[in-house]
Amino acid sequence: MTWRRGIEIKNAVELEHMRQAGRVNAEALLAAAAAVRPGVTTSEIDQAAAEVLRRYGATPAFLGYPGPTPYPAVTTVSVNEELVHGIPGRRRLKQGDIVSIDCGAIVEGFVGDSAVTVPVGEIPPEAWRLLEATLAGLWAGVGAMQAGRRTGDVSAAIQQAVEGRGFNVTKDYTGHGVGRAMHEDPQVPNYGVAGKGLVLRPGMTIALEPMVLAGGSETRVLDDGWTVVSRDGRRTAHFEHSVAVTAGGPVILTALEDPHLDGPRASWYNSFFAGRPSLAEAQGVLTS
Ligand code: MG
Ligand code: MG
Repeated sequence: MTWRRGIEIKNAVELEHMRQAGRVNAEALLAAAAAVRPGVTTSEIDQAAAEVLRRYGATPAFLGYPGPTPYPAVTTVSVNEELVHGIPGRRRLKQGDIVSIDCGAIVEGFVGDSAVTVPVGEIPPEAWRLLEATLAGLWAGVGAMQAGRRTGDVSAAIQQAVEGRGFNVTKDYTGHGVGRAMHEDPQVPNYGVAGKGLVLRPGMTIALEPMVLAGGSETRVLDDGWTVVSRDGRRTAHFEHSVAVTAGGPVILTALEDPHLDGPRASWYNSFFAGRPSLAEAQGVLTS
């Protein structure tokens, strides 16, 4: 059913389809994250996700996506100052990098969309603080995804969580409705004013995706027409879940029941993939 302004309200059956697409996408994203290590190419990370989508018979939502040129890969893989839309290729990751992976899957006509930023080996404490702030922004936004509240509440919650930790959100790219199309109305920016915007209703499904910069919020697009980087060259991070508004509160559609990711802060990442904030995050106190 279409509510006003073209916003799709999903019924219970459609939400179950969304959940299935989200689960498949999460598994592809987890496989991509698990492939991250020093020396691996960004293309190999993309292949890890593509293999999972193939196994499930899912259609990659990003491949061929219209842009300056049709998007050429299954994921976007964005390293360090690359905020979003990095094209996988021959670049080799090295110790100390942070890498943002974004993936979209279409299963039976419904889209799952989620993203994660992971460390390559040991990373400096300030890089961890950036990741913590970005994930805190995501959970703050999820917490505001309550029926009867407004999109501005979600945006403001994300902005406050990120800026309160000393980082900046992009003004150039936003979260978005997700459903039969990867990008539906409404847009949900990572900044905004509480009490403004559209009222959230059960059955709305929105991809929340804080894109956060360690330095200034200005971005630019590289000559490949896709890759978005911080203008000042400083690090950036990106976490995303597709989330449903329900009468019982927010439901993370892109969650896995029992994720297993090894590496630094494994429990922190497994709680992200499981779609629930760790206790520390829930309390607003992020730990190392
Ligand atoms: Mg995404
Ligand atoms: Mg998205």
